[in-house]
Amino acid sequence: MITIALSKGRIFEETLPLLQAAGITVLDDPETSRKLILDTNQPGVRVLVVRATDVPTYVQFGGADMGITGKDTLLEHASDWGGGSAGLFQPLDLQIAKCRISVAVRADFDYAHAVRQGARLRVATKYVAIARDFFASKGVHVDLIKLYGSMELAPLVGLADAIVDLVSTGNTLRANNLIEVERIMDISSRLIVNQAALKLKREPIRHIISAFSDALAQPAPPLP
Ligand code: AMP
Repeated sequence: MITIALSKGRIFEETLPLLQAAGITVLDDPETSRKLILDTNQPGVRVLVVRATDVPTYVQFGGADMGITGKDTLLEHASDWGGGSAGLFQPLDLQIAKCRISVAVRADFDYAHAVRQGARLRVATKYVAIARDFFASKGVHVDLIKLYGSMELAPLVGLADAIVDLVSTGNTLRANNLIEVERIMDISSRLIVNQAALKLKREPIRHIISAFSDALAQPAPPLP
């Protein structure tokens, strides 16, 4: 049995064509079904529906053989586990759920001036590790405030000077009178594979990886 961990929403939708390319059709719709384990047309393949931030955990500790997760989530996960994702193999950038992670402030906040002055900034984010590394590399002192959602609200009510969040079209920032002042990095979703599963179930996993790479017109990655 091959178990694939996916999160609902954008990653799930954008993964379906890749699974199709590997001959895998998911038989339930996670938006309407309450099932957390979804059958596929292949008796030997099943899909787990988990929270996006839990995908690396399921794969690292063998609850799933493979999964698909954003680079943002992977970096935060690695930081939670002491800077490493031991046991996780990352063979492919799937080029899906693309966006960027950026710093944004209220349109009336002079970010460049605050940075030049060496001001200590209050930054609200769900991405504490990425934000910490970014501001440390710039030599900017920050107090990080961890939030779990609706980050855009924080500068509007005086909770923070800035936010670090995912930006795709920029519509959410504009709708809340915020402006993007730094692009930290581009984000896309990655295929991750449990290293032990790769040894024990090499053929079916290799088949899925090479079907994904064919569908993406990428060379098949070397397997450890
Ligand atoms: P947008 O308005 O298109 O710039 O999208 C920004 C909102 O969507 C923010 O609340 C982000 O947290 C969220 N978002 C954008 N892209 C992604 C992504 N690839 N994965 C998860 N959330 C995203």
